[in-house]
Amino acid sequence: MRSKPTTSAPHFIRNIIEAALASGKHQSIITRFPPEPNGYLHIGHAKSICLNFGLAQDFNGTCNLRFDDTNPEKESEEYAQSIQDDVRWLGFQWQGEVRWASDYFEQLYNYACDLIQSGEAYVEDLTADEIREYRGTLTQPGKNSPYRDRSIAENMDLFQRMRAGEFADGARVLRAKIDMSSGNINLRDPVIYRIRRAHHIRTGDRWCIYPMYDYTHCISDALENITHSLCTLEFEDHRPLYDWVLEQLNVPCHPQQIEFSRLELRYTLTSKRKLLQLVTDQRVSGWDDPRMPTIIGMRRRGYTPQGIREFARRIGISKSENIVDLDVLEGCVREDLEARAPRIMAVVQPLKVRITNFDQAQATSRNADFHPQHPELGNRLVHFDNEIMIEADDFSETPPAGWQRLTVGGEVRLRYSYVMRCDAVIKNVQGTIIELHCSIDANTLGKNPVDRKVKGVIHWLSARHALPAEIRLYDRLFTVPEPDADKAHDFGEFINPHSLTVMQGWVEEAASEAAPESHYQFERLGYFCADRYDHQAKNKLVFNRTVTLKDSWTKEQVASPHIPQGDNEGAM
Ligand code: ATP
Ligand code: MG
Repeated sequence: MRSKPTTSAPHFIRNIIEAALASGKHQSIITRFPPEPNGYLHIGHAKSICLNFGLAQDFNGTCNLRFDDTNPEKESEEYAQSIQDDVRWLGFQWQGEVRWASDYFEQLYNYACDLIQSGEAYVEDLTADEIREYRGTLTQPGKNSPYRDRSIAENMDLFQRMRAGEFADGARVLRAKIDMSSGNINLRDPVIYRIRRAHHIRTGDRWCIYPMYDYTHCISDALENITHSLCTLEFEDHRPLYDWVLEQLNVPCHPQQIEFSRLELRYTLTSKRKLLQLVTDQRVSGWDDPRMPTIIGMRRRGYTPQGIREFARRIGISKSENIVDLDVLEGCVREDLEARAPRIMAVVQPLKVRITNFDQAQATSRNADFHPQHPELGNRLVHFDNEIMIEADDFSETPPAGWQRLTVGGEVRLRYSYVMRCDAVIKNVQGTIIELHCSIDANTLGKNPVDRKVKGVIHWLSARHALPAEIRLYDRLFTVPEPDADKAHDFGEFINPHSLTVMQGWVEEAASEAAPESHYQFERLGYFCADRYDHQAKNKLVFNRTVTLKDSWTKEQVASPHIPQGDNEGAM
């Protein structure tokens, strides 16, 4: 892990914690990351993970992983497992065992009985519609339910019978007795238990009543001695309820809830529900589709934990809107890969080149380092031969002004090899270019020609040595920055039709050894990652483009997947 602090430079939550430690209010901190196992985690969750685990690390505290598993119908073991994998992959480890809100179901039930005993909870017989009607609106106070003043004994009896399964789903609920005229609707006698005959991934069919999130969350925090309960801003209005519940009960401690703004990323979505819809509508191949902003999707695409953690550090923590450009995330990943991905050559749209003056006795292959600044990454032989392939769009018969790549009569440097001149263009009867005839200057291996300047450098492969590879190029999943902002249209309508392009390309022999998930820079094409599942699966090499070499998301790129990029000055 990097030595840099995981969380950002000072932010308001960090200040609160520093003050609490300085004043002696706390000796150390305990945070928690509390996902609901109802989907795969996305980049927004990564922000929360980096915050909670990062603060614990920075202040020598601990962080729990707790599943908020109070909605049995939507939760699954698969989701719970993936969340644990994601947290670990990001580089964090929770304290002790994974915790589950369902571990506290018995305690939560007993606390509910305590509320009834102290006259602060009652069993409600009104229907859901009636409850809504009685609740009032933002401008109108609610009114008391006719069942609000049931005796403690009657409430206890009914609540026990709710648990025992005597009533139908939805027939009754347990409500906290707070204030039906409160300006905060969350305090108008919120429901804290409902009857639901649903199979739970942990407790099976043991319970037919389930506690509500708001009631469960604060008590779970208190039972775990959490010092700071960090959540996103939509819970700000729920904080008075969080505090109310804890104040009524004899719990071990009263954690401090602090809210920060959610991360939203342009050109994608950060809502589990909407991401699930993309999966079920088969707009993507699954939660792990490399175009998805899920952690598992980003991982498959080749984003690194270090890059994502750096992103979380850079975007910071505050209460103001946190809508961020994808470029910021891509930039962090690119910076991380720049220093550690070995560099090799690949060709995605090959054009055949015959070397007409190739002389077996003279022509030499060269050794090249995998990384110019990191010789420790090793080196390999870059084979030269009488037939090579170059990128089709590195050649133009009628080049625009300032062209530094190949044209008839012009010269380029073949990366790590000779200077080559194009002498003839061979076309088929339709007039399509099928081959170039070129010659090399035998005197230019590893040195510049003395009498002239050759500026352009292009990548290439020896046709005999190159290996075929499937190359998957990715682009933004949506064509608009806020796909879910337009209420009149479903976000599925804004899917970028060019978000995936599959090419049959070629790579250097050196890539045959690549393990799934290993990272490469394909010179001038971008950073690539050997696909986690498909690479070497059916004797096939499969590479996903993680990110281009430069921030260059333009209209042309959507139309043409390969834009040769600079970064080659002086490379011999
Ligand atoms: P979603 O709306 O995507 O389903 P959620 O809040 O319902 O998200 P949870 O599993 O409850 O999902 O989230 C676990 C934790 O992650 C919560 O503390 C939540 O506040 C935080 N979190 C969720 N989305 C974001 C986001 N976009 N930015 C920052 N934190 C987030
Ligand atoms: Mg939630």
